[in-house]
Order: sequence, then C-alpha cells, then structure tokens
Amino acid sequence: MSHPRPSRNVQRTLPARKRIALIAHDGKKAELLEWAQRWHETLSRHELIGTGTTASRVSKALGLPVRGLMSGPLGGDQQIGALITEQGLDLLIFFWDPFSPQPHDPDVKALLRLAALWNIPVASNAASADFLISSPWTNQDYEMTIPDAGAWVSDRVSPQDAT
Ligand code: PGA
Repeated sequence: MSHPRPSRNVQRTLPARKRIALIAHDGKKAELLEWAQRWHETLSRHELIGTGTTASRVSKALGLPVRGLMSGPLGGDQQIGALITEQGLDLLIFFWDPFSPQPHDPDVKALLRLAALWNIPVASNAASADFLISSPWTNQDYEMTIPDAGAWVSDRVSPQDAT
C-alpha cells in the first residue's frame, strides 16, 4: 500500500552555529562523554541541547552550558522530535544502545523517523559522530531541502472546504 508523500521541497539553511542535540542511553553514556570531551573545542562553538541526564552529565564533564529537556523515558526524545519538526534543531548525536530495550522504544523510533523526514544529520555512534562533527559544514551555513509543509496541507485541502 502506498502512502502520500510530500509533493514539494523547500530550501532550509542550517546556520554556522548549530543547535546540536546530544542523547545517550545509559549503556552508551560513558562513550558519549568520552566523545564529547574529545570534541570539547568544537562543541563550545555551538548551542548544545540534550535529554535530561545526558545534558547534565555532558555539561558537568565539559563545563559548557547544555540546555536540558526531560529525561528520555519521561518524554525528552519527543521534545527533541518537536524541535526537529519546528526547524529548531540542526544536528542530532544520538548514541542509542543496540543491546538494551528501552521503555521508551516507540519514542526512539519516532525521533529517528522525524530526523529522517526533516533531513537532519544524525550520528548514532562514536565513529559516525566523528565524521559528522569534523565536516566543514558543521561550522558553516549549509543549504539543504526539506518537505514543503505548506504544500503538504494545501494538497489536502479541497476548494469545497472553503464553502
Ligand atoms: P537521559 O535520556 O539523557 O535522560 O538518560 C536519554 C534516553 O534514555 O533517551
């Protein structure tokens, strides 16, 4: 069965100073902290956001401000997803744990879906995060396309709706 898809795209510019979300499941927090310490200097040039526990631990370890949302199991992944939907986030570093089922697995899936939909660069482990953060585009404006939300709605509103 085929589902409707966005009929048009629009341009979006990711700013040079990125809004970067950091999330790590408990089994991956040590790995994320080690990674973040290696990239301390680069991360200090961007705006950092994270799920509650991850944000607090990264902030302490790096001595940098990290805006903490709810903890993941309490809805933090959904908050990050909402930021993505509103074009309020530019990069996602999400060390999810392949060995541990999470109580909020549906939220994790929803977040990854929104990141794919809105063309957000995502890293899921230390190597992909190294590649992502060392890209020249991380520190420059980056032009990309995203679905045209206005066209999506108008495609679904018929002229009769006005009467
Ligand atoms: P936490 O949430 O940073 O509050 O631990 C992350 C998660 O489990 O999704």
